[in-house]
Amino acid sequence: MQWKAFWGHLSTITRHRHTVIRHCWKAGIFWQGLRHDLSKYSPTEFCQGVRYYQGGRRSPNEAEREDLGYSLAWMHHKGRNRHHFEYWCDYNPITKRVDPVRMPMRYLAEMFCDRVAASKIYNKERYDTTCPLTYFQNSSARKRGELHKETADELMELLELLASHGEGAAFSELRRRVKSDRRLRHEKKRDRKKKD
Ligand SMILES: [Zn+2]
Repeated sequence: MQWKAFWGHLSTITRHRHTVIRHCWKAGIFWQGLRHDLSKYSPTEFCQGVRYYQGGRRSPNEAEREDLGYSLAWMHHKGRNRHHFEYWCDYNPITKRVDPVRMPMRYLAEMFCDRVAASKIYNKERYDTTCPLTYFQNSSARKRGELHKETADELMELLELLASHGEGAAFSELRRRVKSDRRLRHEKKRDRKKKD
């Protein structure tokens, strides 16, 4: 076991998690935020993270992929963490393919928090509120349509708001959307119970 890589990786994932939790608090999904990326501490993800540690400059998943041709850590991660759009794909009986499905608002909100935190850590002193938008605009996943159309549009809207009006405005809009989605879900649940 490489101790430098062990402590380095532990500190990278823990610092990232704490920034995301602070953002989730502002987005009105604090309890959900507390569980953010917990699977990174599981043996499958943690051991690969240490083995392929890149000094915190680059994701260990990329190095693992270069070595094995795939990243076990990433496949384990995306299959369990609903704040990744890659989780939200399912077999479509009409197209007979695996297609993206729309992300529920609370997970889209967590994805927003995750992207802003990652952008802050990655860009360091060069960070400003336009960075997460630029990153998403250039993303090949977006260009190739790997996100559901409505999910991509909703995320773009929020990132544009962040870029033009700052964190205060973006998080208050996010909170508003999360709240109205929660209300809608509770109403649906109540209606379903009444029918039973
Ligand atoms: Zn994650």
